[in-house]
Amino acid sequence: MKDQAWFDALEAKIPVGGVRTRFAPSPTGYMHIGNMRTALYTWLIARKAGGKFLLRIEDTDQGRLVQDATEIIYRTLKGAGLTWDEGPDVGGPVGPYIQTERRDLYMPYAELLVQRGCAYRCFCEKTESEEDSGDFSRGDDPCRSLSPEESEARAKAGEPYVIRQKIPHEGSTTFRDEIFGEITAPNADLDDQVLMKRDGLPTYNFANVIDDHLMGITHVVRGTEYLSSTPKYNLLYEGFGWEKPAYIHCSPIMRDAQHKLSKRHGDPTYDDLLNQGYLKEAILNYIALLGWSPAGEREFFTLPELVEAFDLKGMSKSPAIFDPVKLTYFNSAYLRGMSPEDFHAAAKPYIQQAAAGMDTALIASLLQQRCEKLSDIPGQLGFLKELPEYETELFNNKKSKSDAASSIEMLEAAIPRVEQLSPWTKDGVHDGLMGLAEELGVKNAKLLWPVRIALSGQTVTPGGAVEICCLLGREEALRRLRLGLARLKAGQEG
Ligand code: GLU
Repeated sequence: MKDQAWFDALEAKIPVGGVRTRFAPSPTGYMHIGNMRTALYTWLIARKAGGKFLLRIEDTDQGRLVQDATEIIYRTLKGAGLTWDEGPDVGGPVGPYIQTERRDLYMPYAELLVQRGCAYRCFCEKTESEEDSGDFSRGDDPCRSLSPEESEARAKAGEPYVIRQKIPHEGSTTFRDEIFGEITAPNADLDDQVLMKRDGLPTYNFANVIDDHLMGITHVVRGTEYLSSTPKYNLLYEGFGWEKPAYIHCSPIMRDAQHKLSKRHGDPTYDDLLNQGYLKEAILNYIALLGWSPAGEREFFTLPELVEAFDLKGMSKSPAIFDPVKLTYFNSAYLRGMSPEDFHAAAKPYIQQAAAGMDTALIASLLQQRCEKLSDIPGQLGFLKELPEYETELFNNKKSKSDAASSIEMLEAAIPRVEQLSPWTKDGVHDGLMGLAEELGVKNAKLLWPVRIALSGQTVTPGGAVEICCLLGREEALRRLRLGLARLKAGQEG
């Protein structure tokens, strides 16, 4: 048993005054959308209050690979702009910030609870699932009533044991959640959960209380799956005589009315969304609204604007449904709102997948207003790389008064013009084709429709005949125009 000075030294380090929140992910190797939203709300509460945001890695249940998985957490949060003031990499007054590096702290606190009669050593052999679920009758556990002397003696003799919380049989426990209000649970419904495992490591249920206290956490933000355990945490705080934090339990994000979002069932993680071409700004904006409603009608918020607007009063008790269509709506709005330079930079890798060697800035300018997600770009540009199969019916168009005969006439005129066009720039191609329409005495559309169909093989394209012609280059443009002409003629003969 540690002496009082040891506990006093730890207590003395706890910062007082000011809001302190923490994001406490387990290093799983990916970030759920729900985790990201918890991180966001936790960060917002700290930033709004001018307080501190901490990062703590909860790795007591993890196997190997923790290092890589922790790096992923850093990278993901940094990428999203959720910066932390204290954490494993930046340090801070109450470190270490990785639970396995704090392993020596927990046993003395568990022993203190044993001494106070709020916990007991349990020497019974139980299966792991019994221990995890607490699914056994407490009344039957003989260790609950061992005398302190006997318990000490058996531990000293080297008998393996876990330490369990000793929940009173009678009465009830009440706590307040900032979203759900007051919640009361009969103590008889609470299990004597394991606090320290046989291997000497704490369970999450114990470590979170010790760490939150020693780190001076004022607001605990986490998912509603922890709501039913919170009375037990409360009893732990009471056993130690510690002040409790404010609890904020966030309702889950659902795929539909019945199912939570789940990676195992194929729902995307935060990183999957990034890889699918959603912008982090759009994702953060959208997920902020899953579980929180701003005061007015407004729905678009940058991160600094969220800090301004965020208010716990807007947090919802009901689960929220993740709607990819709504996310896409946010995403296209963010894409449209980018500067042309930024959009070009973001779109470039996707453009290059489909249009290597072409003018990416020109293509980006054609796509920006009609792009829902960056990952759609290669598909939208497929026709540049390869002319799709198409039917000559596409040449018929009421608006431009085009049909096969007029299209043949226009392509026959366009081909020699394109052979000579100079300079080969967007303006050069534009002036050349417009000049030709004027010479022919036809409306621009009458010429441009068949040219665009022949160049792209489709009726809807980013950009028009001029841009597509310019992008393809003279040789390929001519090849396609001649092919279109040949097809039209073959159709007429047939
Ligand atoms: N490590 C827990 C999790 O990833 C954290 C829960 C909490 O924030 O207390 O779910």
